[in-house]
Amino acid sequence: MNLACLTELTKEPKIAYFSMEIGIQNDIPTYSGGLGVLAGDTIRTSADLKLPMVAVTLLSRKGYFKQELDEYGRQTEQPVSWAPSKYMTLLPAKITVQIEGRDVMVQAWQYNVESLTRGCVPVFSLDTDVEGNTSEDREITSYLYGGDLAYRLKQEIVLGIGGVRMLHELGFEIKKYHMNEGHSSLLTIELLNRFKRPIEDVWDEKLVWDTDKIKDLCVFTTHTPVEAGHDKFPYDLVCRILGEPIPLNLLRELGGRDNLNMTRLGFNLSEFINGVAKKHSEVSRNMFPGYEISTITNGVHSYTWTCDYFKRLYDKYLPGWANEPELFVRVGRIPDEEIWDAHMAAKKALFDYVKEDTGVEMSPDILTIGFARRATAYKRADLIFTDIARLERIGQGKLQIIYSGKAHPKDDSGKRLIEKIFSIKEHLRDKIKMAYIKNYEMDTALKMVSGVDVWLNTPLRPREASGTSGMKAAHNGVINFSVLDGWWIEGHIEGFTGWSIGPSPAETMLIDNIDTKDADDLYNKLGYTIIPLFYNDRHGWIRMMQNAIGKNAYYFNSHRMMRRYVTDAYIR
Ligand SMILES: *Cc1c(COP(=O)(O)O)cnc(C)c1O
Repeated sequence: MNLACLTELTKEPKIAYFSMEIGIQNDIPTYSGGLGVLAGDTIRTSADLKLPMVAVTLLSRKGYFKQELDEYGRQTEQPVSWAPSKYMTLLPAKITVQIEGRDVMVQAWQYNVESLTRGCVPVFSLDTDVEGNTSEDREITSYLYGGDLAYRLKQEIVLGIGGVRMLHELGFEIKKYHMNEGHSSLLTIELLNRFKRPIEDVWDEKLVWDTDKIKDLCVFTTHTPVEAGHDKFPYDLVCRILGEPIPLNLLRELGGRDNLNMTRLGFNLSEFINGVAKKHSEVSRNMFPGYEISTITNGVHSYTWTCDYFKRLYDKYLPGWANEPELFVRVGRIPDEEIWDAHMAAKKALFDYVKEDTGVEMSPDILTIGFARRATAYKRADLIFTDIARLERIGQGKLQIIYSGKAHPKDDSGKRLIEKIFSIKEHLRDKIKMAYIKNYEMDTALKMVSGVDVWLNTPLRPREASGTSGMKAAHNGVINFSVLDGWWIEGHIEGFTGWSIGPSPAETMLIDNIDTKDADDLYNKLGYTIIPLFYNDRHGWIRMMQNAIGKNAYYFNSHRMMRRYVTDAYIR
């Protein structure tokens, strides 16, 4: 990358995609989970499709964390260090933002996401580790989701306000600002100031602020189906750290009376707002009445989330699939034996990794369930252990389970959950083999979603906004077995693309003891449907693998998703 390239890139007006975290590649630890991986997939697809996009994020110089687990499953967090200069180019441009009344200098690192189609999306990672800043300010862009509320607000000032200033400084003309979640909502404040009407004597002060202009420019995607998950800052903190870049009464009007709610701020200044699955948009409309909230259901980047064995198969039978995942519609062309061989190769690769990481030796002929996601209470990683004796009866000698997932350093119940799984793993060791792979990240995710037979997901409804790992599984012919929430409500056809767990989404609100109900259904399906199909009807099983590819991967990919963002959000 050189600066000439940057000049080339600034020629055309761009869509600016803002995200607190981006999963650029496995070794760049600037993501914690689903939100960041989705951002990465968004950018990879935009490069494939040659969309005029630039992305802005924070450098997260000290990353999220590396997970260590002891023999009892007790998690410790190790710092990750990485060298930005190994992957990115530091640009000479510097801008400043005001934090607690100080000028804080911000610089940017450029990373180009390049596609085989020759498309390119530059990612600018903002960095306050600049000589001349106080040592405290130099740490603002160090830790992803670390620190207290004040630290988070400072990060959001750098991302939102600093991001707009940096793009301007670099010479970009921006035609849309896309906020991926509320962490970047302060960009609207910077835009209000930039597009302030130069009228001094209007009698109504509000006319100075051209909110309609900003709305035309902004797109907001929400990912959080629970009230507590939205970033909120008390106004005394806001005034102390941010000051008053726009009058406080106006900020309150836009961001909420009592607290500055970043989602509300983004909503009020975006013409287009969307949730990430149909159900999630419905939940969001109830949480924020009065806003028009559309839906663009998430997808995953097909090429990134298909393992090598299936890539070869798709190249052979569906050439061009990577930039046109619609070709999965013709998955029926692939012979059964070749699908099974590719799957068994992926399963072996995973089991080799499991052996190396945990010492556990799994058997390739046994039905294997995978469960990997952030370890936190609502994901109910332990639902399958609701009645251990029953699980033993159903699964003894016929079932293996592989887990992975980090708990957020401050999530104690998430950490207890990992320990609980470890203790059950010991208890079941001679009956149902289990393994817990440590330090879940993009590489381990791909190994897992391609190497198991069934992908299990048991969140508490309606907490799973979309979920994306099940879409990755489908790209590798791995069949979903999941609670009807998020994307699975749209992707599930019972006994055809996969299986549901528990009642339909319409019923769930009315049911007590949902855990027991869900577990009961899980055991029934496992014992009476899934295990018999796997062992007694291989042909039927492979038919379902094909349906996962031909119906789920066909639709739940980020090429379809980005085409929707273009037509529904970016050029309306
Ligand atoms: C895909 C992915 C996620 C998100 O998976 P969900 O099913 O949405 O929870 C989280 N972490 C990593 C490393 C991933 O690759």
